[in-house]
Amino acid sequence: MDPRLEKYAKLLINVGIHVQKGQTLVINASVDSAPFVRLCAAESYKLGCREVIIRWNDEFLTREKYLHAADEVFDAVRPWDADMMNTLAREGAAFLSIVSRNPDAMKGVDTDRMRRYNRAYGEAVAEFEERQMSDKVQWCIACVPSTAWAMKVFPGAGPEEAAGKLWDAIYATMHITAENDPVEEWRRHCEAIIERKNKLTAYNFKYLKYKNSLGTDLTIELPEGHYWEGGSSTSADGVSFIANMPTEEIFTAPKLDGVNGVVHATKPLLVSGQIIENFSFTFEKGKIVKVEAPENADILEAETKIDEGASYLGEVALVPYDSPISKMGILFFNTLFDENASCHLAFGASYPTVRGAADMTKEERLKLGLNDSIAHEDFMVGSADLSIVGVTHEGEEIPVFIDGNFAF
Ligand code: ZN
Ligand code: ZN
Repeated sequence: MDPRLEKYAKLLINVGIHVQKGQTLVINASVDSAPFVRLCAAESYKLGCREVIIRWNDEFLTREKYLHAADEVFDAVRPWDADMMNTLAREGAAFLSIVSRNPDAMKGVDTDRMRRYNRAYGEAVAEFEERQMSDKVQWCIACVPSTAWAMKVFPGAGPEEAAGKLWDAIYATMHITAENDPVEEWRRHCEAIIERKNKLTAYNFKYLKYKNSLGTDLTIELPEGHYWEGGSSTSADGVSFIANMPTEEIFTAPKLDGVNGVVHATKPLLVSGQIIENFSFTFEKGKIVKVEAPENADILEAETKIDEGASYLGEVALVPYDSPISKMGILFFNTLFDENASCHLAFGASYPTVRGAADMTKEERLKLGLNDSIAHEDFMVGSADLSIVGVTHEGEEIPVFIDGNFAF
């Protein structure tokens, strides 16, 4: 066995999800990643985990269901299915997702069925989602290659070669080598992110102004009392964890009605099983009023209308153009990697990154300008010539990004 594989499992369990003695761990994973999931479960029990509950999925079967199941299946979630996730979150379980998604797996599937099911599921597990998004529970998302995904990323290579290349790429993004101690690497990595996010929080910008040669010309207002997040998080029980692995981003929430202008995407986005490229959004008072794309603009637009909040932004994230993942020059067709290689925004729900907001109701958060939606879709806007200027409450303009990278 590749020595990096065991290190990866240990890293996810000990640092990423940081499962505690006596705690329940839920792992969502594809059957393609079963050997890796077994390593993760074994490591968790070694740490005194109470129980590891696995929720398997299989893209072949998911696709078959979307193609052939009765139509009404996609409008409702069985109460016990939703109750399982909501109850486990209430009980303080930790949630690890291991993603192996093939970007083309749902090609040709009825996008309306997917959207309807996502809406029904999102509404049914709203309690779980709320606990996860406000970091009340530990959660972590990481990836393991499937052959189909690897062959999409490395189209010229055979199945084994492609999978090997994708594994190498993932180990590199995870700072894992055959020789090093990745736990120590991650401590250093998170410290650097935390130092920068504290700097940004201290500036207390009122606006961020984005510009590049693609035509992006966007002003984002930030809510009063906002802070920047990134690196590691802390759960309600005081346990540190890392929600996304890898992670390079520093993020906060935009003010719901304070976004104006145009932004152009710089990487493809997978929506309802379709890849959408070269799209742009136009905003007026926070709302997306125009969606443009050479192809599939209608699918993207429908996604921004899944509910009221989906047509407003919920996240603004900064990632340098020369971040290690970006420098690899690989298009992963997977948000977890692509978002950590590029400045991005998300339409849909906000994380409660305003002081005190984590303990507020949704209505109170809305008043602060924090968005609520069952959607949260990241899209990439970073480019080599992106400039971002921060404007303070006193009107002072401070460069945040120059030519795609941090100015400080
Ligand atoms: Zn993000
Ligand atoms: Zn996001």
